[in-house]
Amino acid sequence: MTNHPVNCSILTIGDELLIGQTLDTNSAWMARQLNLEGIWLKRRISVGDDAAAITAALDQEREYSDLILITGGLGPTSDDITKEVLSHYFSSPLEVNLPLRQKLREYFERRGLPVLASNLRQADLPRDCLAISNERGTAPGMWFEREGKVFVSMPGVPAEMEAMMIREVLPRLRKRFGAPEILHRTILTAGQGESFVANRLEGFEKQLPPQIKLAYLPSFGYLKLRLTAFSPGFPDAFRVLEEQANLLARELSDLLLAREDISIGAVAGRLLLGLNATLSTAESCTGGQIANLITQVPGSSAYYRGSVVAYHDQIKTSLLGVYPELLAAHGAVSPETVDAMARGTRQLLGTDYCLATSGIMGPDGGTPEKPVGTVWMAACSGTQYLTRKIQLRFDREHNIQAASNQALLLLLELFRGARGAKG
Ligand code: ATP
Ligand code: MG
Repeated sequence: MTNHPVNCSILTIGDELLIGQTLDTNSAWMARQLNLEGIWLKRRISVGDDAAAITAALDQEREYSDLILITGGLGPTSDDITKEVLSHYFSSPLEVNLPLRQKLREYFERRGLPVLASNLRQADLPRDCLAISNERGTAPGMWFEREGKVFVSMPGVPAEMEAMMIREVLPRLRKRFGAPEILHRTILTAGQGESFVANRLEGFEKQLPPQIKLAYLPSFGYLKLRLTAFSPGFPDAFRVLEEQANLLARELSDLLLAREDISIGAVAGRLLLGLNATLSTAESCTGGQIANLITQVPGSSAYYRGSVVAYHDQIKTSLLGVYPELLAAHGAVSPETVDAMARGTRQLLGTDYCLATSGIMGPDGGTPEKPVGTVWMAACSGTQYLTRKIQLRFDREHNIQAASNQALLLLLELFRGARGAKG
């Protein structure tokens, strides 16, 4: 095991990344994985499909890092040049990998496609790289080692790169570099803004050992707090970090949602499982985003029944049973309407709980009484009813995100009430 954290650079390749046509989600995804592995990401850099630029980036990043992860430019088309550049860079001529060529041939034949020379060239690999298999595509990855530094080249297609990282690259990195040396503990809170929480934690921060750092990660209504320990020269890191995480959770017990790095949808899901209860949603202004947050959690079918995206008033009345008179009297964005939406959908979908939203997400549609960003939300069970208004001030996309998070937080509040009533 090395006695300093493994430093890593991510190099993403593709003209489309530079002109903003494709968002570089690969490097963000890889950064999260590396973080969990305790590999220290030093730098992220993007270059175009250009041999000189790729070569210069490799020269530069190997100065900073022990590990250089590369994506993009492995395809069969002429704009994809990464393999040729690496072959040249490592003075490792391309040679045909016969088993791989056979696999490629079978791949196209099975699909009834002609086998093009350009496709078969994907089986030509630099002589002294380790080929990494690509379960979701045709371009293999490549692993090179030079002077103690590791270079891994992967396809640009996110789904291919992700499978390759999880199944092939991360396990090899663990073997190559040893166990994590950076440890994290994360807690999830809601109810108080970052600056107020920071104020409360002044004492806590003062007593933190210097090898442990505290980070605040706010996100539309909730706040993650992450403790990071740098373990070299800190033999008791694991135990001390655990103690500090416990202390932090105690300090913020009134705000605490979870003692892990999980989503708000996952928190709601666990509570529903614990209550052995089911949930439905009626979404107007959030347009299905709450359903998305809930169904991103594996196993959510155990407690989530579904959603009615009741965008038009007519759906609110005909399907959800909101009285037209009530809608006319109070408007779609009102406590009366969201309450009726939640009650109606709970009945319609036969669930224990229901969550409803209705609001004005902008940029237009506001009035002096109900400006853009006004959102009403309701949460109900058979016996409890909560409504809440929030006033958002982001653009449309972020208003939808924020409203969806806030709606889930309202549901958590209703659960707390339920547990309080029972206990
Ligand atoms: P393939 O072997 O499938 O052709 P490739 O390695 O050649 O893969 P590219 O041609 O560079 O990959 O990109 C393939 C697709 O992946 C494109 O749609 C591109 O926009 C997308 N892509 C490439 N790099 C990234 C990245 N860093 N983040 C997100 N998407 C990316
Ligand atoms: Mg490309």
